[in-house]
Amino acid sequence: MSDCIFCQIIAGEIPSFKIYEDETVLAFLDIQPVSRGHLLVLPKTHSENLAGLAEAEIAPLFSLARRLGQVAQNITGAEGFNLIVNKGSAAGQMVFHTHVHVIPRSAGDGLRHWPKIEVSTEEMKTIAQDIASGLF
Ligand code: 5GP
Ligand code: ZN
Repeated sequence: MSDCIFCQIIAGEIPSFKIYEDETVLAFLDIQPVSRGHLLVLPKTHSENLAGLAEAEIAPLFSLARRLGQVAQNITGAEGFNLIVNKGSAAGQMVFHTHVHVIPRSAGDGLRHWPKIEVSTEEMKTIAQDIASGLF
């Protein structure tokens, strides 16, 4: 048995409120939802986080996440949805099998966006250039 909890769910060794499954991806309800309809979409092949996700798996994963976001929004009567990926423990990742959170949202639901910081124009310029040059 794998020691990855999501691989165990994929293998059917741990139950879940399953929503959708095909050869590549699986979707089920998050066990500790932050809103009604909060679900997770994951690739069936294990990768620790988004950095290790094969290029070919990106489109099926996010395509399903977007479709389920809209369906979950409609079904729950929400007004929008967030797609969130926590990459790394510093970003809040707790289960190290790549997954996308799909979270139906409504105005006044109490979920907060993160606080803003001040960054100087000079530093913004440097950061943009550094990130751009790191791409290739
Ligand atoms: P992360 O913080 O890694 O992005 O999110 C992991 C998510 O997985 C959490 O929201 C948590 O509630 C959910 N989760 C953890 N264990 C289980 C489980 O055994 N079953 C289900 N359905 N969700 C889980
Ligand atoms: Zn896994």
